[in-house]
Amino acid sequence: MFERVVGQESSKRILTAAVENDGISHAYLFHGPKGVGKTTMAVELAMVLNCEERNGCGVCSSCRRIKEGIFPDVKMVAPDGPSIKIGEIRELQNFIAMSSFEGRFKVGIIQDAEKLREEAANSLLKTLEEPPEDSVIILTAQNQYAVLPTIISRVQMIRFGPREIARYLVDHKSLSADQADRLAQYCGGSLGKALELYESEETKVLVEAATRVVEELTKLKPHEMIEVANTVGSERRQAVRFLELLSDILREKSLKQEFGLLFGKQYSITQIAAVLDHIEELKLYLNGYGNPQLAIEGLFIRICRM
Ligand SMILES: [Zn+2]
Repeated sequence: MFERVVGQESSKRILTAAVENDGISHAYLFHGPKGVGKTTMAVELAMVLNCEERNGCGVCSSCRRIKEGIFPDVKMVAPDGPSIKIGEIRELQNFIAMSSFEGRFKVGIIQDAEKLREEAANSLLKTLEEPPEDSVIILTAQNQYAVLPTIISRVQMIRFGPREIARYLVDHKSLSADQADRLAQYCGGSLGKALELYESEETKVLVEAATRVVEELTKLKPHEMIEVANTVGSERRQAVRFLELLSDILREKSLKQEFGLLFGKQYSITQIAAVLDHIEELKLYLNGYGNPQLAIEGLFIRICRM
């Protein structure tokens, strides 16, 4: 079961045990960084629950149609713009309430549950409180804390974490545990990104530079700072990639509240937020005709002066 999901052994174990012991919850929240396989796992679970072979074989008619998104007993809802529309949630609720057409389970998948506004969430609560027989609702979210607490209290939470990604890198790419941990962190736990980093020499250089900046920017001598800006700013696309990495690392560290260690001195969360905003502006600027090297130098100076 769940063989097509990479890593995520602990969530696989929990879900496999639930399936084998008829202990499937009526509602789950799969939470964790972007790209770690939350939606893939939700679809796989829908397959396991409706598979003709009862194992999510991937080849029976039910499994195939679920993968293609055309199975009548599985429905997926995703945000349209900044929020999930209440109409979509009502439709999903009606869908769940109907008895199944041909599957054993009705499965509703709601992507990006942090985009459920109060009205839509309240509507959903009714279904979460009195779930119909043989129905499962799977919500996914990058940030569990942004999901309304009334929802959280009615779902089983399953965490999708970077540690799983690190383990995959150790097992399949023969990285040391340390290297894998660092790589997984840089990528906010996204396996796709981790593999991309692992495979590209150019990105390795950028990762090293971004790490150096985050760890000791304010302690660098001016010529060292210019050297870093030269390396990462020699070309526009590379500079943008560097800025993306930098903001990924900053976000990851902010989530863990490690502000004190950034850039080699003490920064507040507000200052870090300002740096992140500035990085976003620079990315736009570089998409125009901005000079990448000067832009990066400017960013460094601005951070040091904060
Ligand atoms: Zn199947």
